[in-house]
Amino acid sequence: MIKKKGLLLVVSGPSGAGKGTVCKELIKRNPDFKLSVSATTRAPREGEVDGESYFFLTREKFKEMIGQGGFLEYAQIYSNFYGTPKGPVMKYLEEGSDVILEIEMQGARQVKDMYPEAVLIFVLPPSLEELKKRLTSRGTETEEQVNERLSTSFEEIKQIKDYDYFVFNENNKTTEAAIAIENIIVAEKNKARRYENAIIKKFEEEL
Ligand code: 5GP
Repeated sequence: MIKKKGLLLVVSGPSGAGKGTVCKELIKRNPDFKLSVSATTRAPREGEVDGESYFFLTREKFKEMIGQGGFLEYAQIYSNFYGTPKGPVMKYLEEGSDVILEIEMQGARQVKDMYPEAVLIFVLPPSLEELKKRLTSRGTETEEQVNERLSTSFEEIKQIKDYDYFVFNENNKTTEAAIAIENIIVAEKNKARRYENAIIKKFEEEL
């Protein structure tokens, strides 16, 4: 048969859309998928474990890694840096594993430029009203901050054309969202264009 390379999947979406929950569900249902662990200069939040949630780095160390070409992509969000360490991702892909990056839009675009075979998925909330409810229920922000986040979310949604697919994350339907992504993966893995050369070679050898 044809040996298939791993798929590089990028999942983004506005804050509160639930991309983290959807990715967790996806990993739960598909333990072979690899979720990339990002590096960041932001401080750990309560309960976050170094090397699991993120690799928590100093700014100096982060900049050193940029200099060494150690990131597949990186972005500055407010005053902190976030980046995807290149080594593990490339290794997983070579081994044939599917890799998921849960990153924001600037990073997603860099990945697509560097690695056009990557598949970009945008997770959408059911509505802005629902997004507002979710952000408000966290109780960590003032109403003004919530409203600011909503306009930022809308600005992000307007850039949906940079993505290959969208998935709605409806309330209590995380599993459905994860299944939608699984279906995207199946379709992508069967794209003729991806395996054109391998398919021709296989049949040529039989001639
Ligand atoms: P948080 O600080 O809430 O964990 O993450 C803030 C934002 O950074 C989220 O949108 C998250 O998806 C994004 N993010 C996390 N890791 C990376 C990364 O490696 N690269 C980029 N570009 N964004 C990331």
